[in-house]
Amino acid sequence: MQRSLSVVEDPRFRDHAGPSDHPERPARLAAVSRALAPRRDRLESVPPRPAGDEELLRVHTRDHLALVAESARRAPCRLDPDTYACAESHAVARLAAGASVDLARRVARGESPAGFAAVRPPGHHAEAGRAMGFCLFNNVAIAARALQAEEGLERILILDWDVHHGNGTQHSFEDDASILYASTHQFPYYPGTGDFGEVGRGDGEGATLNVPMPPGCGDTEWVGVLQRVLVPAARAFRPELILVSCGFDAHRDDPLASLDVSGAGFAAAAHIVRALADDLCGGRLVLLLEGGYAESGLEDGTAAVVDALLEETPATVPVPEAPPGSTLRGLVQRVAAVHGERIPAIGAP
Ligand SMILES: [Zn+2]
Repeated sequence: MQRSLSVVEDPRFRDHAGPSDHPERPARLAAVSRALAPRRDRLESVPPRPAGDEELLRVHTRDHLALVAESARRAPCRLDPDTYACAESHAVARLAAGASVDLARRVARGESPAGFAAVRPPGHHAEAGRAMGFCLFNNVAIAARALQAEEGLERILILDWDVHHGNGTQHSFEDDASILYASTHQFPYYPGTGDFGEVGRGDGEGATLNVPMPPGCGDTEWVGVLQRVLVPAARAFRPELILVSCGFDAHRDDPLASLDVSGAGFAAAAHIVRALADDLCGGRLVLLLEGGYAESGLEDGTAAVVDALLEETPATVPVPEAPPGSTLRGLVQRVAAVHGERIPAIGAP
């Protein structure tokens, strides 16, 4: 039997629109759709519905909900210097959060195969009380909390491979040992958080894992870090489901960032995370679109990831060499210095 993939795709996600020169624009989803189109006979469509207050309030403050709702009335406006709202933005942001929750819940119950949600606006910079970095509601954090509150899941891994650090997601779970937040991102770079030493606090110490990467890192470093750091961290954590903050802005075509990841790199990442989900979580894997600002990068990355998820079995991805003095070796050593006591397999040859 051929594998399938559940996908959220809806024209309403293009109704959130700002200034014509803003990088977070509706055309991003047209690029994603171009990648999905030739594969559509193997995709199961999951219709989106708006998130309710109770779901949003697990992550955000009541004041924040009111502020985003109010933005529709004074639209067009800015919620922060980078983050616009139009008259439809509040409704679209609720739809993105609700779609993320529903897709995650369906996958958690085994009602849907692994899933990909092509939603806008993105979410991982949104803080409890603040819109930020093109993000209104933190879709991935809201989905994780829904899985715990409504599906009884206890341990969830959030892998954030967007090129920016997911400050909002990290802060949502910083003192919580039940959610491992692991991020690869360009650093130093927007939003400025995500250094090696940010490991969580209190009960959550060790359940935040950051791999800040210098500009110029490509497939070797990106894929190498996933295999040498993320894989052992996930195995030690034993999640019941994996959520991916799936940005495509680490792609080499991206105009905002300076990593050099290719389509093959995204395919490798998808195979790695899928093998982990198959091994640890009964295949329960959900990817939520975050950033990605080159239409070519979005199309190339989406096609690579979706194809990897549709393969019968995940491919074995060779572990890139990390010779002494290499950037990859340096990154792994820095992470091992912080997390190696808890996760001795990090940095193992
Ligand atoms: Zn990003």
